[in-house]
Amino acid sequence: MDKEGNEVENIFRLSDDWGGLTEHGTIVPFGVGRIGRRVIPSLMKEFDIPFLIDNGGNAKEVYGLDVLDLKQAAACLREKHLKVVVTTVFYSYEKIKQDMEALGFIENKDFCIFERFAEEWNLRWRNKCVLSKVDTVITSRCTLKCKNCNMFISHIPAPHDIDINRLKTNFDLFFDCVDYVYEYTLLGGEPFIHKDIAGIISYLGRRYGDKIGRINLISNGTVIPNDEVFDLLKKYDVTVHVSDYTCSIDYKRNLEKLQERLVSEGIGHYVIPNNTWKDVIYPREGYKAENPKRHMLLCGHSTHSVADGKLYWCDPAFAAECFMGFESKEDDFLDLEANKRNYSKYEATLNIIKYLLGDVNERGYMSICERCAGVGSDNDLTVPAGEQMERKG
Ligand code: SF4
Repeated sequence: MDKEGNEVENIFRLSDDWGGLTEHGTIVPFGVGRIGRRVIPSLMKEFDIPFLIDNGGNAKEVYGLDVLDLKQAAACLREKHLKVVVTTVFYSYEKIKQDMEALGFIENKDFCIFERFAEEWNLRWRNKCVLSKVDTVITSRCTLKCKNCNMFISHIPAPHDIDINRLKTNFDLFFDCVDYVYEYTLLGGEPFIHKDIAGIISYLGRRYGDKIGRINLISNGTVIPNDEVFDLLKKYDVTVHVSDYTCSIDYKRNLEKLQERLVSEGIGHYVIPNNTWKDVIYPREGYKAENPKRHMLLCGHSTHSVADGKLYWCDPAFAAECFMGFESKEDDFLDLEANKRNYSKYEATLNIIKYLLGDVNERGYMSICERCAGVGSDNDLTVPAGEQMERKG
């Protein structure tokens, strides 16, 4: 039973003593990479954090906290029975899990991945709908034409901006159901070329900034936005993630100009070198998953999308349906409005969390996973990142 007296559902994995973390309990985040640095400031407001763990060895101190490696931290974790929250993507988590288990720590008792912590812990012990991260695609227009784009942008017959009013309604529907999300990411295509980009940032930040730990925007670094947009990025503390595809396309000067401007405006940003991608094959023919359920879970694509009030387990599932005309089944996505209408707050939140933690429907996978090779360990097809389609004419 949880503190509300609800039966503990199958989807729940955390041992009961995680419930003792209420009222400013102590946790130790593991991972000071991009995800860690984005979510640790929000975690510091809610929990006592004595130190951080990272195996990279580069950072000794982050946000004023000592960064230890796992071997240094292990004795203290054991002695004080501290809970570890792993703030990394799924494929890094798998390795950390092995390392922790080799030292005798038990998954979901002594440590868990951040997404499970955010979602399960907040529902069971705070009765709140808290999510780790969600994305919204705001445009299918782009300045590049990447052959293997995960959002299938270069294959879209009529790229377009998603109307700002549709986006506002989507934000309203989402936050009508969700109490807090640690990260909300806007992406495209290239979001800086949306004609209403200023209005979108300002609506999300003004209306829902207090329900979002961090707003992110992913750009390819080819576009320098106008002064109004820079002011809004600063005002709402938006972190800009600049994907660097200069291994395939020569636009280094533009990328540097954007970076210089972000530095001079004091806007948080990362330049992320992309050298290789996985080839997901879709929308080309040629892939058929033998065991789609296992394939989807192995993929662990850590990008949940929300569009028109519908939740999709990954961004490519959204893009396949909405941009490529893929015929999703009704249970491939979760309709937030119907979920809210038909269930109590607790049940509706449970449905959202089940879906996001991978229990997406009775089949156990989205139908697009049968045709998409994904980005997991069962796909070893790599291609150069940002390789361009040949332009006609
Ligand atoms: S395999 Fe499924 S989960 Fe993975 S990227 Fe493709 S559609 Fe998404």
